Amino acid sequence: MCEFPRTFFYFVIQYALTNLLGGTMQQDLNVTIEQLYEGKPIYKHQLSNLLSSEDPDILQLLMDRADMVRRKYYGTDVYIRGLIEFTNYCRNNCYYCGIRRDNKAASRYRLSPEEIMTCCDEGYRLGFRTFVLQGGEDGFFTRDKVCQIVSSIKEKYADCAVTLSIGEWNRSDYQAFFDAGADRYLLRHETACEEHYNRLHPEDMCLNHRKECLFALKDIGFQVGSGFMVGSPYQTLDNLVEDIFFLAQLKPHMIGIGPFITHKDTPFTDEINGSLNMTLKLISILRLSHPRALIPATTALGTIHPEGRELGLKAGANVIMPNLSPANVREKYMIYDDKLATGLEAYEGLKKLKEKVSSIGYNIVTDIGHSKV
Ligand code: SAH
Repeated sequence: MCEFPRTFFYFVIQYALTNLLGGTMQQDLNVTIEQLYEGKPIYKHQLSNLLSSEDPDILQLLMDRADMVRRKYYGTDVYIRGLIEFTNYCRNNCYYCGIRRDNKAASRYRLSPEEIMTCCDEGYRLGFRTFVLQGGEDGFFTRDKVCQIVSSIKEKYADCAVTLSIGEWNRSDYQAFFDAGADRYLLRHETACEEHYNRLHPEDMCLNHRKECLFALKDIGFQVGSGFMVGSPYQTLDNLVEDIFFLAQLKPHMIGIGPFITHKDTPFTDEINGSLNMTLKLISILRLSHPRALIPATTALGTIHPEGRELGLKAGANVIMPNLSPANVREKYMIYDDKLATGLEAYEGLKKLKEKVSSIGYNIVTDIGHSKV
């Protein structure tokens, strides 16, 4: 046989096989998406295959399905939360975080209770009905101080929700915060795999304790939010599958995920940022598996891509958390490089944000915005 027909023959076989297998793979992924959409259980390997697909049609189908589910439960509503970053002191040393204890280059600040209240006043005037108090684990803010701040906000703004995001405490502390009037608590598990957790955190932190905190918070009666970073160093697809399974077990009211972004003064400075598409894919998968959850389009997503927030909404997110912190401290709460703190990220940009959100078919609402979980 002469060379040409043989090469041609191999080429034809290879072409046919590639298309056949590619086609089968795509069909399998379509099935996985439909199973997720219908709320049917799926296997870990199906999730792995979905996460490893780089097919843009698959991502689009996933986002479309997630958007349908989000519209079914929440319509086009987008809830806004006023984020008040009230301290960047932290006793922890998470390798990824810019406000870690050992970052001597960080310029530290604390807001006074009066300054925090001024943020709420301004926020309330603009239509915010949820205030999220976020900070490092700062020993200055004792249990009593936190309780006083929470109860004074609730006294003045009874029609508002107060969300805390201040890390790991004892169950009795969480109970005291709840009794003082706090409604919600955000505590990302960061990664559900212990080995991975230990590569992101020093020895004095442990995944089990973080998980215990989450279950305690739920048990006390908080609306609980958890989540993880996408593309954090050493993360594997299996880790992400574990994250999805852990959240299925926890059944949180809120799920916050965002891409990992490097910070120049941390041990992870030379690592690679998480990707937009992987984050969108995960938002959609989480929307499909938690139809009633509140899912923010996070600042980190807006930071890695100019349209990140909008794409996050289209992928199934239904919350945006503009920054209510005073302008002079905003650049100090720098948990990763180039974190957005102005424009549409800031409360001053609310009017523009409303326009932007309605231009893509959703509506910002002034509502306490409790979870429908
Ligand atoms: N001390 C609080 C708040 C931490 S900041 C707590 O422990 O819950 C809120 C979230 O920012 C973290 O949970 C983490 O997931 C995220 N974060 C921190 N550093 C980051 C980085 N370099 N890139 C992306 N997200 C980061």
